[in-house]
Amino acid sequence: MTGFDLLLRGGLVIDGTAAPDAARHADIGVLAGRLTLLPPGSPAASRETRDMTGLILAPGFIDVHTHSDGVALLDLGADRELVRASVLQGVTTEICGNCGSSLFPALPERLAAMRAETRISFGGDVGMYEGFAEFAAAHAAVPRANHLASLAGHGTLRAGVVGPVDRPATPGELETMCALLDKALSAGAAGLSTGLIYAPGTYADTDEVVALAAVAARHGKPYVTHLRDEMSRVEEALEEAVEIALRSGAPLHLSHHKTAGKHAWGRTERTLPRIAALRAEGMDVTCDVYPYTAGSTALAAMLPPWASDGGLSALTARLADPGQRDRMRLAIAEGVPGWENTVGNGGWDRISVACAPRHPETEGHTIAELAAIRGEDPLDTAAALLIAEQGEVTIISHSMVEDDVRRVLAAPYSMIGSDGVPKPGGRPHPRWAGTFPRVLGHYVRELGLLSLETAVHKMTGMAAARFGLAGRGVISDGAHADLVVFDPAAVADGATFTAPLVPPAGVHSVIVAGETVVRDGAETGARPGTVLSV
Ligand code: ZN
Repeated sequence: MTGFDLLLRGGLVIDGTAAPDAARHADIGVLAGRLTLLPPGSPAASRETRDMTGLILAPGFIDVHTHSDGVALLDLGADRELVRASVLQGVTTEICGNCGSSLFPALPERLAAMRAETRISFGGDVGMYEGFAEFAAAHAAVPRANHLASLAGHGTLRAGVVGPVDRPATPGELETMCALLDKALSAGAAGLSTGLIYAPGTYADTDEVVALAAVAARHGKPYVTHLRDEMSRVEEALEEAVEIALRSGAPLHLSHHKTAGKHAWGRTERTLPRIAALRAEGMDVTCDVYPYTAGSTALAAMLPPWASDGGLSALTARLADPGQRDRMRLAIAEGVPGWENTVGNGGWDRISVACAPRHPETEGHTIAELAAIRGEDPLDTAAALLIAEQGEVTIISHSMVEDDVRRVLAAPYSMIGSDGVPKPGGRPHPRWAGTFPRVLGHYVRELGLLSLETAVHKMTGMAAARFGLAGRGVISDGAHADLVVFDPAAVADGATFTAPLVPPAGVHSVIVAGETVVRDGAETGARPGTVLSV
C-alpha cells in the first residue's frame, strides 16, 4: 500500500480543466507536495486521513490580478488580516505586478527615489528592487502561507529608467528598458504589464509598448494590460492593445475588463464580440474580471496626466496652486485627448475615499459629500486631501453596471482576478477578501451564471495556462499539491464595502505545497508559500 502524507477521501473533485468529466468522485493522496488521484475508497495508507464528504476539492485558486506586491513586506501587526484575506478565500497563488506597477526592475541610481514613493501604491516602505531576483529574495525572507508570482510593470520600468516625466523615451532609454525587462523575464517574472492610465506609463506611446511587448514575446510570456481607456474610448483602447499584440507577437491579456462610466455602459456588447472574433482568427487573447460593479484606484489617477508630470512633489505643488487647479477642473469638464477622465465620465459623487491614513474621517464618504460639507468645489477637496496625505489616497469608483460584469464573467476566455489593493487601514475594496467566494456563491449558486466546473476552471487551470504556472491549476497525478476544499452549498463572500476584510463562509481547507494552511476556515500558521519563478 502506498504511504501518503495526507489522504482526502469522499469529496467531489473538480479538477480545474475544461474537460467534460472535470467533476468526478475521487480520493486524493498528497506525498512530498505532489498529488495522486485514486478511485474512491482505494486502499491506501496515510499519515493523516480526512473525510471530505459533501465538499468540493479543487486546485488552489490562482488570483491572476493583485497589487499585493509589498503587503507581506510591511510590518503589519494587527493588520495581518490584510495578508490573511487572500489565502482565506482559497487563493494559493497570487500574481502581482499588475497595471504597470511592480517592485522591480529599475536602474540602481533610480531605486532610492522610487522607494520613497512606494507608500502611495503599497501602503508603506516595501523597498524597490533592481531585478526579479532581488525582489524574490526580499520576499523569501518573510514566511508566507501561499505562493507569489509577479509580472514586470512597464510604469516601474519607465520610472526606473526615464524617471517620472511626461516625455518620450529616447532610443537609448528604450533599449535599457528592454534589457532590464529581458533580464527580469529570464529570472522568473511572469510577463509584462502596463497601466496606460497611470503616470508614468500613460506617457508612453504605442511604439514604446510594442518594443517592450516584443521582449515578452521572445520569452513566450503575455502582454498584460490595463487599457489606456476603460470608459468612453474603451474600443479604441482595445484596438491599441490588439495592435501591440499583433506587432510584437506577444499573447494578449486584458486586465479587469470593464466598460465603465455612463457613456460606456453596455459597451461589453461590442468589446466581447470583438475579442471573440480575434480568438476565432487565431489570436491568443484572454482577460480577467472581478465580480463587483465598483473599481478602486488612486485618487491622483482622477487628475489629467500632466498633473503628475515630474512625480509626487511636482503634483503636490500644482495642487496647491489655484491656477493649476482651475486647469485641472477644465480638463475634467472638457476632457483631454487620450486621457480616460473617470470623473468626467461619472462625477465626484461616484468616487468615495477608501483609504486616507491621516484623515480616516473621510473614509467611506464621496468626494462630492466631503466638498458639500466644506462648502467648496470637489476638485479643491480632492486637492486638499491629496496634499494632506502626500498623494496617498485610495478611492472606490462606483462606475460599472451589473449587466457588463455578468457578460465578462460569462465570457469563455475570462479568468478571475481580485484586483485587490491590500494597504493597511481604511476601507479597501472588498474584492481583496471576497472575490472568489463571491463568484462561487453569488454568480454560480444563486444566479446560475456559470457552472461550478466552469467557474473553477476560470480560477485555476485557465489561469495557470495563461501565466505559465506549470503543474498548477489542475488536479492530476504529479501536480503540485495546492488545493482548496469548499462547501458548494455554503461558500459565500463576507466582505462588504463597510466591512471589507470579513472572511468568506464555506472555505473549509486550503493546502499549499502539501501543507494545510487553512483548516475549518482559520489559518493554521503553516508558511509553505514561495515566490514562483515562471
Ligand atoms: Zn488596473
